[in-house]
Amino acid sequence: MLLLLLQGDLVWFDPGLGYVLPGEVMEFHRAGQVITVQAVIGGKSQVFTLTNLSSVRRRQDLGPTGVEDMICLSNYTKISISSKVWSSAVGNTYTGSILVAVNPYRMFDIYGLDTVKKYEGQILGTLPPHIFAIGSAAYSRMSKDSTNQCVVISGESGAGKTESTKLIMQYLAAVNKSQSNLITEQILEASPLLESFGNAKTIKNDNSSRFGKYLEVYFKDGVITGARITEYLLEKSRIVTQAHEERNYHVFYELLAGLPEESKAKYGLTSADKYFYLNQGGSCQLEGKYDGEDLQALLSAMQVLGFSTQEQDTIFRILAAVLHLGNVYFHRKQLRHGQEGVEIGSEAEIKWASHLLQIDDEARNERVFTPLNIDQALDARDAVAKALYSSLFSWLVRRINQIIHKGSRKTHISILDIFGFEIFKENSFEQLCINYANEKLQFHFNKHIFKLEQQEYAKEKIDWQNIEFQDNLPLIELVARKPVGILHLLDDESNFPKATDHSFLEKCHYNHALNELYSRPRMSSMEFGIKHYAGQVWYSVEGFLDKNRDTLRNDVVELLISSKLSMLSEMFLDVRLSSENKTLTKANGRFVTMKPRTPTVAARFNDSLTHLMEGMAKCNPWFIRCIKPNNEKAPLKLDMPCVLEQLRYSGMLETIKIRQQGFPVRLRFNHFADRYRCLVPGQVPRADGESPRAFDSSFLWSTFLSDDSSTSVNHVSLVKVGTTQHIHPQEHF
Ligand code: ATP
Ligand code: MG
Repeated sequence: MLLLLLQGDLVWFDPGLGYVLPGEVMEFHRAGQVITVQAVIGGKSQVFTLTNLSSVRRRQDLGPTGVEDMICLSNYTKISISSKVWSSAVGNTYTGSILVAVNPYRMFDIYGLDTVKKYEGQILGTLPPHIFAIGSAAYSRMSKDSTNQCVVISGESGAGKTESTKLIMQYLAAVNKSQSNLITEQILEASPLLESFGNAKTIKNDNSSRFGKYLEVYFKDGVITGARITEYLLEKSRIVTQAHEERNYHVFYELLAGLPEESKAKYGLTSADKYFYLNQGGSCQLEGKYDGEDLQALLSAMQVLGFSTQEQDTIFRILAAVLHLGNVYFHRKQLRHGQEGVEIGSEAEIKWASHLLQIDDEARNERVFTPLNIDQALDARDAVAKALYSSLFSWLVRRINQIIHKGSRKTHISILDIFGFEIFKENSFEQLCINYANEKLQFHFNKHIFKLEQQEYAKEKIDWQNIEFQDNLPLIELVARKPVGILHLLDDESNFPKATDHSFLEKCHYNHALNELYSRPRMSSMEFGIKHYAGQVWYSVEGFLDKNRDTLRNDVVELLISSKLSMLSEMFLDVRLSSENKTLTKANGRFVTMKPRTPTVAARFNDSLTHLMEGMAKCNPWFIRCIKPNNEKAPLKLDMPCVLEQLRYSGMLETIKIRQQGFPVRLRFNHFADRYRCLVPGQVPRADGESPRAFDSSFLWSTFLSDDSSTSVNHVSLVKVGTTQHIHPQEHF
């Protein structure tokens, strides 16, 4: 096909890199079909001369707005997908019931009540793609069938999962507006509250979720009656250390920016840059975030959720105590009998911490001299800070649930928003857990979109050519299969006192060196590599064992239990209880109680993920795949290689294929008969009582399946099986 282009035409083209870019034609030699195109790559303008024009398309040929449903793309090519994603930069696009949502990094006025009204009760696909369309479809399905629904939101860090979660929740609250009640408001307020405590600035995302969240919203007769939040694995290391250009959890900065001076004096607080736990990232400010104002929002959320002033005070005391602890330092000290030890150098900070936590001074004094070296003393200090903050976070979730988890629980719509896949320069235990959780989610997606779908075709004996997809089960097995999956090896080593990070790494190398998804480092560095569905990640094993054991010395737990703050004391009673978990093991055919084995972080996380997946498997799924438009957090900038890479690894290309070739629209036989009987000559509308089976559909089949392009229905193909009609997506009735 000859292409006619003019100078200034806007095109999509492949500069030979295997992906397409938007560019502008500078010169076009019609005779030789050669063009010179200018494009901007990485912020720099570059000129390309192309002799092969097969990848070049004028942008207007792909339509000014692209297509709304990717499965309607006539030609499944990267170029058409690119065009679609570009044009939907401020919106979303469907692939069947999967919404692809591109983060525009700019708030548009498209989430108001008028939009809620527009989408309410509409069948998916009748209106332009929008996040509310998914909310509406899930709500309608739940109301109609009385079945539980689950909106699974995925995408890498910064792609927009948390924003999408809030929008779905906003939609559900808004359709309940007429019944507006306190519980709905409380559920809505729980999100910003938990974001203050569980989100932080990372280099990937200024508001990165450092915990996973599963929100179940309960309904009775279509009205919200309550909700429940389940949290997954808050990142603890951030409480005591942050990488360059990152911050600790928002709440600390909000507290210091928003508390009046007299309250700050009460907690012994000054400004954020004075605290070691807050200033390691370089800057305590975050552009575009007003920490002081956000504290007011946090306080009003606490008020809506009914937190008492005493509870608020205890929360602030714990936060302030964590900051004071972070500024504690140590001197070397010669102890009796020639033993080396450390002495606390900052009495004032310790005094503040024990005063705020209401811990007995005498008990505290016993702990001033301990035979530790400085590193061990700092680790012990950090362990207390991490335990205080993470226990506070778990307490908050329990407390919120006490308020919102009530009423009738007939049906629910749940929304899953976990931490997105991430690759940093240095990746540790936290990234392994986060990325493993994303693998499980991808597996859930693959299961629904590819496995179950193709199994259904096989069961119904539909003539079908299997579509290959990237099955990530081998990766999940590498990480979590018993007995030698990486997390199990880690658990074994964690329960073996003499083990080290190095011995753990050796075991990983020994067991997995031949696995093609696993890599050993070329040098003898302390790391291993894993080929995740979203890319290769190198994990540095330093600290893996400690992070997985996550133990707090018993005397510290007892000290905190002895606090006069009942809320704090109860939190650590819980910590004591959970560390006393006994395990039952089968020996010689009998169950015996083993020496208490504290469940490790990895074991607990794995169990909670399994539980989550089991719960989700019982719900009807809706998928939202969030796409990050660029890596600079820049508004309305679409970096095509970055976008295409996400579409590729998330399996969207194969998804479009299966949705194009498959039969994603299914109608019950009687619905089908009712809807299309009028097309069959001689058929009259069904009289009451007539069996739908009496409908003679054979004529209809032959009409639809004929390849006669003169008919208006030549794009339709139907497969008649059992009681279900499988309908090809490109139907044009
Ligand atoms: P993480 O895995 O790190 O938690 P995430 O996928 O939850 O990442 P979000 O925090 O939802 O990412 O989004 C990152 C930022 O992108 C938001 O703070 C917001 O600035 C912007 N953003 C996301 N979605 C939208 C949207 N629909 N409209 C406007 N801006 C958005
Ligand atoms: Mg998030």
